[in-house]
Amino acid sequence: MDKTLQLAFDEAKKYGVEADFVTEKTLPSFEIRRAKGRLVIAAPNSIETLYGVYECAELFYGYTFFEPGRDRFDASLKVDFTAPGVPNGRLAFARRPLLKRRGFIQEFPFNHETPMLFDWMAKNKLNYLLVWMKYYDELSDELKEMAAVRGITIESGHHNFNYWIPGKVYGKTHPEFFAEINGKRITPSSNAELLLSEQLCTTNPELRAEIARRMLEYCDQHPEVHTISLVPNDGFGWCECDNCSKFYDKNKKGDFYSLSEHVYKADKIYHDLVQDIAARVNKVRPDIQITMVAYINYCAPSEGFTLKQGMAVHFADYWRCINHEISDPSCPINSHYADDIRKWCSVKRGGDVNIYEYFMGVNFYLSLPMIHFHEMFHEMLWYRNTGVDGILTQFHIPHWSVYGLNYYFMAKAARGDAEDGVIFDTMRRLFGADEHKAYAFYSNIKKLLLTMGTCHIPYPYSLFRRTKQEDYQTLLMQAKELVSLAPDDRFRQELVIWMEYLCRFKAFFDLAHADKATVADAQALLDWVHTHRNTRVFVHSRFDSYFKAIKEALQSGRKWIHFNLDWEDNYILRHIELLR
Ligand SMILES: [Zn+2]
Ligand SMILES: [Zn+2]
Repeated sequence: MDKTLQLAFDEAKKYGVEADFVTEKTLPSFEIRRAKGRLVIAAPNSIETLYGVYECAELFYGYTFFEPGRDRFDASLKVDFTAPGVPNGRLAFARRPLLKRRGFIQEFPFNHETPMLFDWMAKNKLNYLLVWMKYYDELSDELKEMAAVRGITIESGHHNFNYWIPGKVYGKTHPEFFAEINGKRITPSSNAELLLSEQLCTTNPELRAEIARRMLEYCDQHPEVHTISLVPNDGFGWCECDNCSKFYDKNKKGDFYSLSEHVYKADKIYHDLVQDIAARVNKVRPDIQITMVAYINYCAPSEGFTLKQGMAVHFADYWRCINHEISDPSCPINSHYADDIRKWCSVKRGGDVNIYEYFMGVNFYLSLPMIHFHEMFHEMLWYRNTGVDGILTQFHIPHWSVYGLNYYFMAKAARGDAEDGVIFDTMRRLFGADEHKAYAFYSNIKKLLLTMGTCHIPYPYSLFRRTKQEDYQTLLMQAKELVSLAPDDRFRQELVIWMEYLCRFKAFFDLAHADKATVADAQALLDWVHTHRNTRVFVHSRFDSYFKAIKEALQSGRKWIHFNLDWEDNYILRHIELLR
C-alpha cells in the first residue's frame, strides 16, 4: 500500500475516525458522506484521503488541530452522525481548493520542531515549504520522507546567488563573476549570514553557464527536489560593469511603496538572467520548476517578460499595510502591490504566481499585533479571482500564541472554507463558553490598530507612536479576565504574557523617545522577554538581534527608529506624513 494511504489508515485509528475509504478519481478533493450509518471518505488520491481523515477528526470527533504538536480534544465538540435524523448524503462537499499551493516559508534551520511542523501542515492541508538551500542541505532523509508522505513539496531555494556561486569557491578563481562597483570587482564577504547587497555580474555568459550547470548537477544529486530558486542575495548592489549597465537606467528609481525609491530598478537585469537560466535548465530537465522573487526594486515584470511553463514567481508584498486589505484601492501601499500582482498574473504563460506573505506581523519577529482574520478570507478570494496560484507565509512555531490564528485561518481560507463559519467555530473551539469574550478581545486589538491612523506597517515606531499606555492596559485586563475564567488554559495565559509585553514595550518606547531610556532599560525588557522561553509568544533569537540594534542606538546617541539602517529609517520617517 502507498505510504500516504497507510498513514491515513493509521491516523484514522489514532483519532477514532471510523470511515470507509473510497477512491473516486474525478473528485476535485475529498468528500465526506454518510451512507448506511457509516462515514465514507471519497477522494481522488491518497493525500486527499488523509486530508479527509483530519477533516473528520475536526468535524465529528472533537479534535482541533490549531497548534503544532498540541492536538486539542474536547468531547463536547463531538457530533453523532449516526443519530437518527441525520440524513444520508454529503456531509462535506468535494471542491477544488481555492489556491493549489499553500504553505510556509522557513527562514531558520530544521530543528526538533520539524516533525510537528510537517504533522501540523498535513492536518491543515498545507502542501508547500520554501526553505533556504543551506537548511535543506541539513534535512535528514527520514524527515524528507515524512514531508513527502504528507504531500508536502519542499522548495530548496530562497536568496541563493551565494549558494550557486559561493564567494569562497569562485572569489579567487573567477573574480569576474562578482559585481563591479565603482570600477572594482567586489570581494565577496565570507560571512554567509549577512549578504546585504552583494550580487553577481549577471550578464557574464560563463557565469550563466556555470549557474545552469550547478543547478542541473544539484537536481541530479537531489532527485527528490523539483523546485529550486534563482534569487538574488538580499539587498541591492547590482553589477555596474559596461554590459550589466545596459540593463538598467540609473535615473529610473524604484518606488516608495516597495522601499526602493533610493535605488535604481533592477527588474530588467534580474529577469533577463532568470529567463535565460530557466530556458537552459528546462531544456535538459523540463520537470524542474525555477522560481524567482519579486519585491523591492524588482517588483513588477519587466517589459516583454513572461512566466513560462517551468517558472514561478514568489511575489513578496514587503512592508505591506495591515490596516487595509491587499486589494484596497484606497491604500497608498497595498494598491500598488495589487497592481503588481495583476501584472504578474497577466504574464503567465504556463508558469505560476505565488504570494510571499508576512502573516507573522510583517516586519521582523517582534510579536507586535497583526489580527488578520476576516481579511485573510477576503484576500485569498481576491488572489484566486486574480489568477494567483499559491500563498506562502513566513512563520515561527515559538510565536504561535501570537500569530497562530493567522496561520490556521490562512490554511482554511486558502482551501476555500467559509469565513464566518471558520472564525466563529474556531473561537468556540479555543475558548468554549467564553468565545464571545475572546472574539471581543481580538476585535479590540484590531480596533486599536484601525483607529490609531489610516495605514499601519507593524514596526514598533508605527504602533507605539500612535497609541497610549492605557490602550494596552485595557487589553491586558481583558486577557486577564479570559484567564480568570479558565486559569489552567495555557493559551489564555500566553495572551496575558503577550499583552504584558506590549505594555512593557510601549513604556520603554515612550522612555526612549523622551530621550530617557538607558541601555540597562533595554536590557531589562529583553531579560523579561527571555524569562518566557517556555511559552509560544516570542522568537527569542530575533529579540536578541533587534535589541542589539536598540542598545547600539542608545549607546551611540543615534535616534532609535528601527534597526539603525539609514535608508530604512528614512522611509519610516516619511511614512509619518504619507500614511498618517
Ligand atoms: Zn556585470
Ligand atoms: Zn493602508
